[in-house]
Amino acid sequence: MQIKCVGVLTSGGDAPGMNAAIRAVTRAAIYGGMEVKGILRGYRGLIFNEIVPFTTSSVSNIIQQGGTILKTARCLEFTTPEGRQVAYETLVREGIDALVVIGGDGSLTGARIFAQEFNYPIVGLPGTIDNDLFGTDTTIGYDTALNTIMEAVDKIRDTASSHERLFFIEVMGRECGFLALNGAIASGAEAAIIPEKAYEKDQLEDLISNGFRKSKNSSLVLVAESEVTGGAMGMAERVKKEFPQYDVRVSILGHVQRGGSPSASDRILASRMGAAAIDALKEDQRNVMIGIVNDEIVYVPFAKAIKKNKPINESLMNVLKILST
Ligand code: ADP
Repeated sequence: MQIKCVGVLTSGGDAPGMNAAIRAVTRAAIYGGMEVKGILRGYRGLIFNEIVPFTTSSVSNIIQQGGTILKTARCLEFTTPEGRQVAYETLVREGIDALVVIGGDGSLTGARIFAQEFNYPIVGLPGTIDNDLFGTDTTIGYDTALNTIMEAVDKIRDTASSHERLFFIEVMGRECGFLALNGAIASGAEAAIIPEKAYEKDQLEDLISNGFRKSKNSSLVLVAESEVTGGAMGMAERVKKEFPQYDVRVSILGHVQRGGSPSASDRILASRMGAAAIDALKEDQRNVMIGIVNDEIVYVPFAKAIKKNKPINESLMNVLKILST
């Protein structure tokens, strides 16, 4: 089928670089002779008909902006067959022949279900700071969030070392420790406590029993926000009870991790992936997420991309351990 008009939306948690992706999708589609429509507030825009025609200038001056000009939302209606039927009718009425969905695993799960239900072409872009999508080395927003974490931890280090404290710094990553692990390596932290390892061992006990580096007068530990790790608060409570000799403090980085101007890496990644999404549609690819592996663009079937448990790289765990001894 020849695609004449492409809709683009951002959904779920926002991530720096989403705007660069919207720009790339729009410009590549127009370059390829297609029309583009921007859908506001994720899947909500399809249900409540919030759709605007996009031209080249609609995406001018946004590559450097964090957040998403299309806004994002969580949309309960889209999780029901009735809601998706309304969304489909909107697409038909608007003459939108294919969708590019930029979002995390929830958004791509919704995309997969919708694409199957209506035999509708959708290409996904991995837009999430968590880097938790399978089949891609990295996701749009991850590098910027890592840099934000690194800068914050650098600052906390100054106060931690002045007071000789043990700091638990909570970073995002509900089910996924990439930000905590690579954030810890980048900032020279002592350890990362991550959900992937929570069932294997007591990471806190491991940390304390291995002893902190003797020459260090403070310790920084990054903790992924997660029910299974207990988060930074949970860790600090345990230390107060079980190891009262430590002067412990908590810092929760929170939403600062989502914001800010995207890094060069994220802008380039988003630009390449956005252009690749249009290539994929032209090649009649559908129901795939654009990924990047060894610096090459790849197509990852939705079913594979949203598979849980993207494995953590054990060699990174090792590097962190070696460098903190
Ligand atoms: P993220 O994409 O960042 O993981 P969410 O998990 O909140 O964010 O998902 C974003 C939106 O995707 C949801 O609000 C919903 O509209 C849609 N979605 C998520 N899971 C499903 C599902 N199982 N079926 C249909 N739609 C879904």
